Amino acid sequence: MPANLDWDDIIHGVARDVKSHLGKGEVAQYIPALANADPHSFALVLTTLDGKAHGAGDLDLPFSAQSISKLFMLTLALEAWGGDLWKRVGREPSGSAFNSIAQLEYEEGIPRNPFINAGALVVTDAVISASSDEGALAGMLGLVRRASGSSRVRIDPDVAESEKLWGHRNKSLAHFMKSFHIIENDVDEVLDTYFCQCALETTARELSRAGLFLAADGRDPVSGKRFTEVGRSTRINALMMMCGHYDMSGDFAYRVGLPGKSGVGGGILCIIPGVGSLCAFSPALNRSGNSLVGTRALELFARRAGMNVFRR
Ligand code: GLN
Repeated sequence: MPANLDWDDIIHGVARDVKSHLGKGEVAQYIPALANADPHSFALVLTTLDGKAHGAGDLDLPFSAQSISKLFMLTLALEAWGGDLWKRVGREPSGSAFNSIAQLEYEEGIPRNPFINAGALVVTDAVISASSDEGALAGMLGLVRRASGSSRVRIDPDVAESEKLWGHRNKSLAHFMKSFHIIENDVDEVLDTYFCQCALETTARELSRAGLFLAADGRDPVSGKRFTEVGRSTRINALMMMCGHYDMSGDFAYRVGLPGKSGVGGGILCIIPGVGSLCAFSPALNRSGNSLVGTRALELFARRAGMNVFRR
């Protein structure tokens, strides 16, 4: 790690500089449980390999992780299935919206990647098939709790209920894939698990800590616990870079240059291999459903800290 960087100084500077942008963009409206989020809330936190958190803003404000949960479910699916997972889901950028159905028909029910909703449904299905009594959802929650070191992390029942009530698009994606025999388990079980996983509630501090194993070749650098093999953590990072921001993944790579995964709750988890794990949060979104100010904050941070995987 560069010895001369003052993380706290950089992060506080970024937080100051994005303040005037807070409120731009639009808070997710597709479920009432998210529509009430305060567009002025903001957090930016870096957990370095020594486990220390450097942050500014609402670090301990719980928010809905939404699609960031896909990262943890994918980790479990790769543990269970290894390379066989790629028989059922691709690993190419989709270039279309996170909940798009159009591409699925041309490609015979095989989603482009594990981070669009269709792909995440397949990943969840794969984890259900491989789960013992504990179940896929408990498996994912357990992973996030262990990786974050926080037992406070939970599934928000109101958000889960709202996802279920308003999840018509996801229901159609799942049924469509079932018609191609891509989904193995009962569609309602897969959907229920998916709706609950989207309702994962964490704080920026917890998420940033939970991502640390991906910055350290799959092993928690503080406890030494291995969460995944090095060959998998590198590939999860590659997928985040190529697909983590849906049809704005290219723009994110161009502006930030770090693997990242966004969620419509306004969180973005970014990995700086060998350095740390970074979480930005602000609920107002850009047109692709990624945090507008969160992206701006990460862009400023990456530039000021010189943290960009394309730079030496
Ligand atoms: N719950 C959202 C959905 O399924 C998750 C999407 C996201 O965070 N991009 O549509």
